[in-house]
Amino acid sequence: MDQKRVVIVGGGYVGFEVAKALDEHADVTLIEQREAFVQPPAAIRALLQPGILDQIILPYDRLLKHGQVVRGRATAVSQFEVTLDDGKAYPADYIVLATGSSYAAPFKPAGDSIADFRNASAVVSAQLSAAHSVVIVGAGAVGTELAGEIAAAQPDKDITLVSSDNTLFPMYPCKLGAQLKRKLERAGVSVVLGQRAENLQHVDKPYAGPVALTDGRVIQADLVFPVIGSRPNAGLAQSLPGVTVAPSGRVKTDQWLRPSDYPNVFVAGDIADVGDGMTIVAISRQNPWLIKTLKRELRGQAVEQQKPYLPWKTAPILLPLGPKIGNSWLFATVGDWITRRMKGKDLFIPKYRKAFRR
Ligand SMILES: Cc1cc2nc3c(=O)[nH]c(=O)nc-3n(C[C@H](O)[C@H](O)[C@H](O)COP(=O)(O)OP(=O)(O)OC[C@H]3O[C@@H](n4cnc5c(N)ncnc54)[C@H](O)[C@@H]3O)c2cc1C
Repeated sequence: MDQKRVVIVGGGYVGFEVAKALDEHADVTLIEQREAFVQPPAAIRALLQPGILDQIILPYDRLLKHGQVVRGRATAVSQFEVTLDDGKAYPADYIVLATGSSYAAPFKPAGDSIADFRNASAVVSAQLSAAHSVVIVGAGAVGTELAGEIAAAQPDKDITLVSSDNTLFPMYPCKLGAQLKRKLERAGVSVVLGQRAENLQHVDKPYAGPVALTDGRVIQADLVFPVIGSRPNAGLAQSLPGVTVAPSGRVKTDQWLRPSDYPNVFVAGDIADVGDGMTIVAISRQNPWLIKTLKRELRGQAVEQQKPYLPWKTAPILLPLGPKIGNSWLFATVGDWITRRMKGKDLFIPKYRKAFRR
């Protein structure tokens, strides 16, 4: 019997896992512009331990046993076809768009080149090791972890973490932010709250220069990291008929993660505005739902007869400050031991190496 064709665009945390899970159940094509998957959470520590890069860049060649991974950039999507920049078209019964997001260098590849990503990481790693003073602008998960990683590996540096909020992680119970602040300060990090950087020279890469704060203070820095959030790459999804784009640039969906008038086209991950954050933790909830729903649909059960997707109410979060300490919120605030065991020690590197058969 002919298998249904599932075309997935984007081989990030959504795309690779959905492709792998459906590989036995459909004729799967995964379209990805890069030759390898990269693990951004470990790209932070790679600045302090460059050897990690070799473990977190995972080629797609062994991912699928039956389906194909096509290297190329998707430029157009219709109801039953995805077209690449070389003009080649891939017919589909179902399409999953998972084109994710971009982030300031050197934490995610900027384009389709893994060589450029390696180079950006090496350049910033050298700048960091030469710097005496570092200012990190943005105290979300990336900024907070970066401050903790630098303090753990290069404790002589003068590190400042700047947040426009009055507490760290204000959307979580205050114990989490308070404990993280205390641990960062104990490790020598100055945590500046309730202040904006007024003069960011770049938002897409680190640079040398002073940082002017809202209250008039100016902090001199050999290296400034702008880490102020992910930018969704939602252009393809936005081009579909009937799509509503949220102010964030992500696309709204119906209850079954469908953003457009096409009932066979799904979105997930960083481009999908479904009430979840732009995180792997969100994807760890969306992927199992999407895989189960698509498997049932492939067996003939209409999507509308299946359970809708429900986002996290408050998603758990793991925040290591280097390999040994940290705090997490796992429906209660927990400390060093659990954070280290669950993430800080190996940053999930073995899990993803196994998924890519490395
Ligand atoms: C430094 C850093 C650390 C992070 N740490 C954590 C963490 O510890 N925990 C957590 O929960 N979240 C973390 N995140 C967030 C997490 O990385 C993202 O939520 C996740 O990567 C989103 O997955 P995705 O599959 O939606 O998209 P992405 O991972 O962005 O993947 C999208 C893929 O689509 C490809 N693509 C895009 N457009 C096209 C196209 N037109 N044609 C073909 N291919 C295309 C891209 O090349 C990319 O491979 C971190 C983010 C950063 C930047």
